[in-house]
Amino acid sequence: MYAAKLFPARSLPVTKADSISQPRVWADGRQELCETLHYFRAYHGGSYTTGGFARGFMFDKSAHKRDYMDSAVVIARAGGGLVKDKDTGERVISSDRTEDTKVTSLRNSMQYFNPVVIIAGADNPNMPSKTCHAYSVLDYFKPTHIWTEKSKGMKIMRYRFERLDSTNPSWWTPNDGEQVEHGSLDPPLLHTCIECKHDSQQIYLQGWMCLQPGCPNFWLLAPTAENPLPHEPVEAELEYDPCFLKQRTTWPNDHHEYSLTSNNVGLSGLSIAGEDCSLAYWLGMVCPKCGRCNSRLGWVGWECGSQGCTWTKELPHTFIAAQAIREPYFPLSGGYTMSRDTHLPLVKLDVSFKDNYRINRYTIPGINGFVAHLIANKTVVEEEGGPDQMFEELQQVDIGLRRRGLGNGMLKGESYTRHFTVNYGMPYKFIAATSSATFDGAARPVTHTRSRLNWAAKSLLTDEATRELKNDTDDGGEALEKARQKIEEAWRLKEFNEVLALGYFEQQRINYHDDGEFGLGPTIATLSLGAPGTMRLRMKARHYNGMSNAGVYDDTPPLPGCVAYEARLEAQKHLAHIKATNSSVYRASLKTIPKQLGLKSGGTARDAITLTLAHGDIVIMHGEGIQKYYEHSVDHAGKLRFALTCRYIDPDSLKETDKPDYEVGPDEECYDGSKLPAAA
Ligand SMILES: [Zn+2]
Ligand SMILES: [Zn+2]
Repeated sequence: MYAAKLFPARSLPVTKADSISQPRVWADGRQELCETLHYFRAYHGGSYTTGGFARGFMFDKSAHKRDYMDSAVVIARAGGGLVKDKDTGERVISSDRTEDTKVTSLRNSMQYFNPVVIIAGADNPNMPSKTCHAYSVLDYFKPTHIWTEKSKGMKIMRYRFERLDSTNPSWWTPNDGEQVEHGSLDPPLLHTCIECKHDSQQIYLQGWMCLQPGCPNFWLLAPTAENPLPHEPVEAELEYDPCFLKQRTTWPNDHHEYSLTSNNVGLSGLSIAGEDCSLAYWLGMVCPKCGRCNSRLGWVGWECGSQGCTWTKELPHTFIAAQAIREPYFPLSGGYTMSRDTHLPLVKLDVSFKDNYRINRYTIPGINGFVAHLIANKTVVEEEGGPDQMFEELQQVDIGLRRRGLGNGMLKGESYTRHFTVNYGMPYKFIAATSSATFDGAARPVTHTRSRLNWAAKSLLTDEATRELKNDTDDGGEALEKARQKIEEAWRLKEFNEVLALGYFEQQRINYHDDGEFGLGPTIATLSLGAPGTMRLRMKARHYNGMSNAGVYDDTPPLPGCVAYEARLEAQKHLAHIKATNSSVYRASLKTIPKQLGLKSGGTARDAITLTLAHGDIVIMHGEGIQKYYEHSVDHAGKLRFALTCRYIDPDSLKETDKPDYEVGPDEECYDGSKLPAAA
């Protein structure tokens, strides 16, 4: 029975046979997979564990040479612990592997009879048949063995899995058949170690070895005639014992049904307001027709991304009334609203009150421009056609919001933003390629936002100009009026001509980024609607650390609040001198300065300003320096939030192919917020 010829020396076939059928669940990309499948939510690495249990494994390109896969059994090395070899660039085992939390999680799954799901990547060299997807879900498996062995002198840990349900053939069985049926051979040899008294099965045809890593007999073959001492096997010659491979392990829940697909979420008459914006409702769905994992990309629902597949699913929206988003602990009134914003001491704050808004204006030393937070009161949010109505209208019309592809290639397949966007007016392609639509016939909240923010920005910039005048001169009146007119005229030429609408469901957010780009005006205004958001501004890492991640000194002038500010100021003077005199010395010193100053990459600056963006609030960022040196993120803790951002985009900055095929006309609504009843 121990006939090696049952298994001719394993060499992987150059061309694999087709599988006997197709996977029930598959994915084109890692993000869509992780958003859709509850048993594999790990964006990196080959295993997913949660709550102390292993849930899923993905075996793709990086396989150990003794990894094995047939239609019922999978053997794999426990992941992790690899480092890049300095000479070959290959990822190699760097140190002895011992039982860590990942291994313990799989041991838990084994002890509690929790099956795990195995997914095969398209680059998996051991798949016995052809696959035609980036990721193919195999099935539920029982982890049956966890053991330690040696590879290239290092201890590694290995797993064996058996398919849970063997009542029907695996879809990935090659159609040219498998030679040995699962469970058809004698059970493997079980032997007790004379040293450590532990039992273990014989895994390799070369002979039984103790698999207890602490035992003196670990990984040693018994003496033979040619080799009179216990000895390690020759790794290249190791071959699996077919009886070990093909053994069948029984579990009490063998053949039980476990779901490979996603939850099929739905709504009932008792669903709460905004339930369809909950996390569970924007997870991906497995297409019931073709098995593809589909992220929810559409504001209104899912559609299958598989070519030729027409499956779609839409859910009705359970409406959230504006009254329902009032915050019980922060009641609004007709007076000026209290602030919930905070800032670091180095940031300068000016507070003013105007036209029903509290205005928190922040300036950062070393940066021209400002960040202003206009906090709305009850009069503003309940104004006819104002924030309350806009929020409700945006829930009743489809303005074309979609999650857009990022195209950044970090993960296999396409990645998508974690929020929905649509652009109106001049095209804007900064965060993600966004198809743009004309203002003509656009939903009222879109065009009204433009007008409202034009008013707010113009009003604020006028205050800025007059603030400077007041500081400079005492002859008030006439000069102020002149300044006002000047801004009015300048604004008319470069008023906001673009609205980027963002929609956020529960737990959706936008990570740290900046809004700076060639061709954009220096003023960016955003209106918040719905659940209150939190906006955080911090210095970008390269300016904070004074160096790039690659370790090169960043010679832009340092800002107060950065690492080693004083020392970098000094270095700056010295650098400016050699930059002008010797460019090769200059370039060389960019690499040595970080060490001299004790700078390190990888640090992150504290948030300098944290704003609570409530329903109806406006944020205005003015000046290029803010975008150059600082970045911001926004998240929220509610079910539904909108952010509508306006910019001026210079049409001449657009590539010919990016120019819109429609006219972007002027703002004709001419909203004037100063006409509201005064705050009281
Ligand atoms: Zn032993
Ligand atoms: Zn489909």
